[in-house]
Amino acid sequence: MEIALYVIILIMGTVFGSFLTLATYRIPLGQDIVHTHSYCPKCNNKLGFFEMIPVLSYIFLKGKCKKCHEKINIRYPIIEILTGIAFVILALGLRINIYNVFTIKGIEFLLGVLFIVFLFLIAGIDIEHFVIHKGVLIYGIVISLLNIIYQYSFFSNYNLYKVIIYLIAIAIFTILGTFRIKKKAKNDYVYSLIILCLIINFFTLEIGTILTIILALLIISIKSLINKILNKGKKYNNKIPIAFYICISNAIVWITIFLSQIGV
Ligand SMILES: [Zn+2]
Repeated sequence: MEIALYVIILIMGTVFGSFLTLATYRIPLGQDIVHTHSYCPKCNNKLGFFEMIPVLSYIFLKGKCKKCHEKINIRYPIIEILTGIAFVILALGLRINIYNVFTIKGIEFLLGVLFIVFLFLIAGIDIEHFVIHKGVLIYGIVISLLNIIYQYSFFSNYNLYKVIIYLIAIAIFTILGTFRIKKKAKNDYVYSLIILCLIINFFTLEIGTILTIILALLIISIKSLINKILNKGKKYNNKIPIAFYICISNAIVWITIFLSQIGV
């Protein structure tokens, strides 16, 4: 029975992953993510039911669009699998089983799922467009508030004063980002980065956030060093999707904590 539950969670994760690839593609283009039918970006061919099955459809179609034979980006099935694995690790870390899935544990799992969706969206849009999407940040703030309500309702030692200070900080940087005096895209990105870290902080506590930032800085330094060596003397794109690396680092921190909890 336990295995059945985890298979369902895995499948649920790949379906979410499929939605995430669609969302990271459509949100920056301002397209509808809920109602418009999935389609091939090249020939606009609407996808049938079987072509929308995560991972398996990629294998059946041999990585190509059925109509125009345009190659499907390998990134899509990879993201679908990764989301599935992320869901399973989350469930394992929270020790979800058939007896507690419909209790308070289930709420914790659901909040974790909403947070994973947030990380994937921020990372996916940043690596493709070098922007931290405002709408996704607002979604992040909403799920943070849900998490605060959950923590406050079930844990008596929850420090509400600290939470209020963080919320005020988010409000200040949101205002700075919205009513910025000089319109500089760079400043905007920095404000959004700070809001991103504050949202992460609601889900990982201070220690997790600090570890995340240290790890991200480390990865970014190594990445830029490698770039510099590889492109010596040449002009190259040195734009770094910092939010992407922060999300990746946060995921690594989470996975490490969870795996250590279940004794791997
Ligand atoms: Zn096509």
